[in-house]
Amino acid sequence: MSGPATPVFRFAPSPNGRLHLGHAYSALLNADLAVRTIGRLLLRIEDIDPVRSRPELIEAILSDLAWLGLRFAAPVRRQSRHMETYRAKLGALAARGLAYPCFCSRSAIRARTATTSGSAAVDPDGTPLYPGTCRQMPEAERATRLAGGKPHGWRLDMARAVSAAPGAYAYRAFDPDFEERSVSADPVRWGDAMIGRRDGATSYHLAVVLDDAEQGVTHVVRGLDLEAATDLHVLLQRLFGLPSPRYHHHGLIRDANGEKLAKSRGSIALADLRAQGTSPAEIRARLGFS
Ligand code: GLU
Repeated sequence: MSGPATPVFRFAPSPNGRLHLGHAYSALLNADLAVRTIGRLLLRIEDIDPVRSRPELIEAILSDLAWLGLRFAAPVRRQSRHMETYRAKLGALAARGLAYPCFCSRSAIRARTATTSGSAAVDPDGTPLYPGTCRQMPEAERATRLAGGKPHGWRLDMARAVSAAPGAYAYRAFDPDFEERSVSADPVRWGDAMIGRRDGATSYHLAVVLDDAEQGVTHVVRGLDLEAATDLHVLLQRLFGLPSPRYHHHGLIRDANGEKLAKSRGSIALADLRAQGTSPAEIRARLGFS
């Protein structure tokens, strides 16, 4: 059991593909820091994507992590088992007027942002900022569409959200030597971010914030590709009255061409390296761990 002062780390893979060296780096760094702080290391399977998450991939992830020599404190959290909780929290934001249903398809948004502005403003992921079409929808029409079962996702009303949680936004960042600094956050650059998916599932942003709090995570260690998302997470934490963990966003492991590793780009899976005879010790050494 952990006391109130025990640091809690987590590795939180999405079972959308096999783990590659980038995942191994993140998992090993979390484990390393947990050992150095006599903390706990948790595993969370972020299986919120009903199409891409597959049970056999979850088994494969567990097997790869065990092969690497990583041990996690029980239980392993599976996000797909908590969809009702995420829905309830989303409903609470909607009831406060801070989230609204969005009936726009991706192609409709693309078409609209293409016609309304020459070079549309984009969020940190490069997605054009939502033009706010459904935010302006009259309440009666919204109610009719919802009652008619029209497919919809849910968006944060960013302007209302920041006025409901006023003040400057910041979080504590730490480096692997546990030097800390304050980083200012700008959630507004995400615009009316999607927090509930059209397929009924939660968004990554909502689930990660709720789960880090639920699991008592004190130290989030994840890739730099998620650094900008932290700005939005800090806002959600404030809206829900949750504590902010400390964050370390580590550099990404790149392939020989300098590209970020991704299954879609054919990056070599840990399972392939293992099949080729690479040992866990060699993986550790290759990633700079002793
Ligand atoms: N599930 C996310 C991923 O695999 C990581 C989420 C996080 O660490 O906050 O990219």
